[in-house]
Amino acid sequence: MTAARSRKARRTVKTELIERLAAIVGDKGLILDRADMLAYLEEPRGLYHGAARCVVRPSTVDETAAVIRLCNDYRVAVVPQGGNTGLVGGQTPDESGEQVLLSLQRMNAIREIDVGSDTMTVEAGVTLARAQDAAASVDRYFPLSYASEGSATIGGALSTNAGGIHVLAYGSAGDFALGIEVALADGRILSGLSKLRKDNTGYHLTRLFIGAEGTLGVVTAATLKLFPSPRAHATAFVALDDPEKALEFLHLAKRELGPSLHAFELIPRIGVDLVLRSGVGARAPFSDHHPWHVLLETSVFDGTPPEETMFAMLSKALESGLARDAAVAASLDQRAAFWRIRELLPEAQKHEGGSIKHDVSLPLQKIPQFLAEAAAGVECCIPGARPVPFGHLGDGNIHYNVTQPPGADRDAFLSRRAELNEAVHAIVLLHGGSISAEHGVGRLKRELLEQVKDPVSLGVMRSIKSVLDPNFIMNPGKVLTAR
Ligand SMILES: Cc1cc2nc3c(=O)[nH]c(=O)nc-3n(C[C@H](O)[C@H](O)[C@H](O)COP(=O)(O)OP(=O)(O)OC[C@H]3O[C@@H](n4cnc5c(N)ncnc54)[C@H](O)[C@@H]3O)c2cc1C
Repeated sequence: MTAARSRKARRTVKTELIERLAAIVGDKGLILDRADMLAYLEEPRGLYHGAARCVVRPSTVDETAAVIRLCNDYRVAVVPQGGNTGLVGGQTPDESGEQVLLSLQRMNAIREIDVGSDTMTVEAGVTLARAQDAAASVDRYFPLSYASEGSATIGGALSTNAGGIHVLAYGSAGDFALGIEVALADGRILSGLSKLRKDNTGYHLTRLFIGAEGTLGVVTAATLKLFPSPRAHATAFVALDDPEKALEFLHLAKRELGPSLHAFELIPRIGVDLVLRSGVGARAPFSDHHPWHVLLETSVFDGTPPEETMFAMLSKALESGLARDAAVAASLDQRAAFWRIRELLPEAQKHEGGSIKHDVSLPLQKIPQFLAEAAAGVECCIPGARPVPFGHLGDGNIHYNVTQPPGADRDAFLSRRAELNEAVHAIVLLHGGSISAEHGVGRLKRELLEQVKDPVSLGVMRSIKSVLDPNFIMNPGKVLTAR
């Protein structure tokens, strides 16, 4: 075939695929215009800029399955996307313009709330905030919560096994999924929407799709656990000398507060300073300056005033010299003001120029040593760069963000990302930690995963992928490098 004839044949196949997709999802479900596609092709950190053949927006599981079956027949790659808030580029198509972006946003029904079973069955495109509201409407609690919850979807959260601020008490996204419905790469529908809390009938298929980042199939719905609604909270901001004391304080808080402790966040002084000077309207928690802080919160389910146990625990921490100072929120406004400092940290860093970020986890005991060694490693690599390590200390998960030296050139700093990543990750691995705690692997860490994951585990992952997706159409080049 001549080059011109083969180009024409490719064009005909492309047109045919689009026509057949349109026949499945209708006009409302297909975006072809490049300007209209843009919002789906850029991701929050601006690291990847994708292109796509089209954006397909099915509204039912049957439509979703038909779209995937068709793409499989044509050997065209499918990139699933929920709220497009992922931080590792997993939801962004590559630059070829050949891939199909499959948005789950129209699959947003709350199919059932079964109060008697404490479960809720929702479609993949339901946002976390809506799932929380739906649970609250029947006096139940859905605890999965993080700053992007207004846009992040249940499908995306399960596919990244997202964490957030309540993992300490309730677990990560995957821990809420009792059952799951998935459209597989060959178009079959795996209907596993079980409400069972115990079901040991062979391999745990639901778990297989948790954290798979769209590489094994498309999650279309899930049955999620619901919990009793907390009646009240006690929230405290605590000042401490160093991470060693913060860790000891964590053990004290767990001992004294038991399962009511649901959040325990580490914040360095530089983090508070950055938030205060970024002009976003946050208030200083203390009049004095302190080197480190912890934001912690408890919930109670009966009429007990929650502040009582919090005060008793904080008195012990202050008397034993573990804590330098402590403030307990006296109102809902003050509680929100405390959380504002934590939530605005990533935003505040933007005002200081470029930041290079790491989402790592370590055995709890190793965190103080990691923080000291990583700070020394950063200084050695880029003198003057400012580590802003913060996050879910209660889960052993630190967002080890490094902000550029004051006044440095942003692009020159960011061009050293690989070098800095290597220095920080080497320390993480030395202490038995993970290079991705809660954000996933996506495109950002796929090469790194090849280097650090045990070869047998990687081999098993590839075997599973090749059985479920033999034509490699499901989000290729994410998590695992291409075949
Ligand atoms: C401001 C901010 C704060 C954040 N805080 C946290 C935090 O505290 N903890 C935390 O864990 N994460 C956090 N994240 C990142 C988190 O991963 C995402 O917010 C969210 O979980 C992804 O959901 P999404 O619907 O946006 O998925 P997307 O970003 O659209 O997709 C993420 C991945 O899942 C895949 N995917 C999406 N939907 C499906 C589906 N239905 N079936 C199969 N695959 C699918 C995509 O292909 C991609 O690989 C934060 C992000 C932002 C922007």
